[in-house]
Amino acid sequence: MFPKQTKYDLVIVGAGLSGLAAAVTAAENSLDTLVIEKGRSIGGDGNYVEGAMGVDSYLQKQAGITIDKTELLQDELNYSHYEASAPHLKKLIDNSGPTIDWLHEQGVEFSKVGVQGKSWPTIHTFTGGGHAAVQTLYQKAVDANIEFAMSIKADQILQKNGHVAGLSVQNQATGQFRDIETANILLATGGYVDNPELVKLRTPFSDRLFAVSDGKSTGDGMQMAWKAGAEHYQIGAIQYGGGAIYDKQNPPFTHMASQLAAAATQEAILWVNERGERFVNEDVNDNMCHAGSAILTQSRTFSILDQGTVDHLTNQGLYKEIGNSPVSPDKLDQLKVEIDRDLNAHRKYLTKADTVEQLAEMLNLPDLAETVQRYNSLVNNQADTDFGKDKQYLTPLKQGPYYAVELGVGMACALGGIRVNNDNEVLNDHGYPLTGLYAAGNDAAGMLVGDTYAVTLPGSTAGYATFSGRNAVLTITKRRGS
Ligand SMILES: Cc1cc2nc3c(=O)[nH]c(=O)nc-3n(C[C@H](O)[C@H](O)[C@H](O)COP(=O)(O)OP(=O)(O)OC[C@H]3O[C@@H](n4cnc5c(N)ncnc54)[C@H](O)[C@@H]3O)c2cc1C
Repeated sequence: MFPKQTKYDLVIVGAGLSGLAAAVTAAENSLDTLVIEKGRSIGGDGNYVEGAMGVDSYLQKQAGITIDKTELLQDELNYSHYEASAPHLKKLIDNSGPTIDWLHEQGVEFSKVGVQGKSWPTIHTFTGGGHAAVQTLYQKAVDANIEFAMSIKADQILQKNGHVAGLSVQNQATGQFRDIETANILLATGGYVDNPELVKLRTPFSDRLFAVSDGKSTGDGMQMAWKAGAEHYQIGAIQYGGGAIYDKQNPPFTHMASQLAAAATQEAILWVNERGERFVNEDVNDNMCHAGSAILTQSRTFSILDQGTVDHLTNQGLYKEIGNSPVSPDKLDQLKVEIDRDLNAHRKYLTKADTVEQLAEMLNLPDLAETVQRYNSLVNNQADTDFGKDKQYLTPLKQGPYYAVELGVGMACALGGIRVNNDNEVLNDHGYPLTGLYAAGNDAAGMLVGDTYAVTLPGSTAGYATFSGRNAVLTITKRRGS
C-alpha cells in the first residue's frame, strides 16, 4: 500500500536494524516519519544477527569488563590498514555502550556480553536473536505512530537546488510509482551483498562467494546516492563468513545449520587446494574474514576428513569450538547421517574414497598423498612447522574411508560505497554534505573498515546499524531546531 500522506519530515528507506533504530529515535523526537520497506516483512538481515557491539555498556559494567577505548581505536585502525575513518570509528566506539543501554531501555534484551573467537569483548548477544530485537523496535515505533509502508521500494532521490526534495517510490505489488515530498531521507538499505555486479567490483572471485543474507541487500541505497551526486567512495569490505560448502545447486541457507559444513569449515582439520597442497594454518577460522580471504587465495579448496575424524566428531566431541555457525553443539551427532544423505544425493561438493590415493585421483589432486603424509608427520611431532596451526588441532588422517568437502566462501554483508561525515550525512566528491541525505547501517559502514570486515570488534555492523540510525536522526532533529 502506498503511504497515507504525500509529505513527511523524514523518510527512512529500509525497515532493517538501522532503519528501525532510526524510526524509534524519530518518534522520540516527534518527527513526522515514514518508513518504507521493499520486502513484505520487517527486519532485513537484522533478523539473523547474533549480537551488537558496545563499549562501556551496562552489561559490561555488571560483568566488570573494561576496555581502553584509545587502545581499541588504534587496534582497529591498524587492522583496517588505516582505511577506516578514525573520527567515525571513534564516534562509534564512544557511543556504542550508550546505544546498547538505549536498546535495553527500549525493551531489547541481551543474554550475555563477551568475545567471539580472538576478539575484543564487545558482542552483546540478543536474547531471542536479532529477530526479537527488530520486533521490539518495530512495535515501539508502531506504538509511537510511525508509519510503515511495506512492499514499497525507493527508486530515486528527488532534489531541488541541490537539496533533497522528495523520493520516488514504487509499489512492488502493482508496479506503480509515486512521489513523496520530504526534505530528509535516510538510506538504510543494508549494503550490496546480494548484488553480484557490485560484489564483482570488490572482488574477482565472486563465483566462489555465496551470500547468506535475505536477498534484499541489493545496493539500492548506494546506487540512489551515487545518482544524487554522492561520492563513489571505496567499494568497501565484504564480510567473509569463513568457509562455506561449495554448492551451486542449493541456496546457501540450506547449509547454515549443517553439521557437515561445521566439520569442514570450523574444526581446523586439513585444507588443501586444487593441487592437493596445504596452504594455510586452518585455525585461521578464528577470524572468519581471514579464513575467507585465505580460501580465495587458491583456485579451489577442499577440507579433508578421514573416518577417524568423522567418528571422533560424531561420538566424542569437537576438536575446536564452533565459532561461526548458528548451531553450536558439543558433538556433531548428525554428521554421519548428513554424509550418507549427501553421498546418496550425489552432491558434487562431497567425495568419498577408500584411500587417499583414490580420493586424489577422483578429484585430480596430484599432491594430496604427499600432503597427507607430511601433515601426519607434523601431527606426530605435535608442531606445525609449516604454517603454525595450534598443536591442539593437529589430528591425524590415517583411517579410511576419506572424504573431501569442497569449500567456497560465505558472505554475510557487504559494506561501503557511500562516504558519510560524523553526522551520517552523505558526502559528495568534495567532502560536502548533500543536504538532506543521510545513510546508516551497512550503507555507510564502509567508513569503519579497510579491505576486510572488523570481525576483531564483534557485533560492529549491528552496533553501527543502531548507532548510525540514531545518529542520523539526532542530526536531523538538531538541524531542524537550529
Ligand atoms: C546471517 C547473518 C548474520 C549476521 N550476524 C551479525 C552479527 O551477529 N553481528 C553483527 O554486527 N552483524 C551481523 N550481520 C550483519 C547485518 O547485516 C547487520 O548487522 C544489520 O542487519 C545491518 O543493518 P542494516 O539496517 O544496514 O541492514 P538490514 O538489517 O539488512 O536492513 C535493510 C533493509 O532495507 C530494505 N531495502 C533495501 N533496499 C530497499 C529499497 N530500495 N527500498 C525500500 N527498502 C529497501 C531491505 O529489504 C531490508 O529490510 C549478520 C548478517 C547476516 C546475513
